[in-house]
Amino acid sequence: MKRIYAKEDYCIGCRLCEIYCIFQHSGCDTLVKAFSQKDCLPDPAVRVEEDGAISFALQCRHCDDAPCVAACISGAMTRDPETGAIKHDPDKCIGCWSCVMVCPFGAIQINLEKGKVSSKCDLCGGDVMPACVAHCPNEALVYE
Ligand code: SF4
Ligand code: SF4
Repeated sequence: MKRIYAKEDYCIGCRLCEIYCIFQHSGCDTLVKAFSQKDCLPDPAVRVEEDGAISFALQCRHCDDAPCVAACISGAMTRDPETGAIKHDPDKCIGCWSCVMVCPFGAIQINLEKGKVSSKCDLCGGDVMPACVAHCPNEALVYE
């Protein structure tokens, strides 16, 4: 299956990947509309980590062994049989954080207020170029 890979040598830390991930999952048709609804914006499923001059975008690797799926006790984490992407169902999530504890990449975002996983990369459905990759201005993210 295709996955998103980050090239830290090319990342300029602009965070456009985070912005377009939020926009893609906002359900709005323009950036302005999306970001004017601050209260109901989704959390980004990609997060830019920075340490001095180094930055890179971190998101789910859709692992072959997917420890988050094995650890999930409610069936909220599953593998899409068609795309192979690991998906999260917020309706089934009970906020036990088992997936968060076993993910070796720290790729799962949590919402302490809601007591649930708040965001996890879904590959934008798996049949289009993910928004973070499509809008990275320096080709620091590839989908291959
Ligand atoms: S959009 Fe690309 S260059 Fe910008 S922060 Fe994300 S990965 Fe880095
Ligand atoms: S959330 Fe973490 S453990 Fe689960 S598939 Fe993604 S990278 Fe792997």
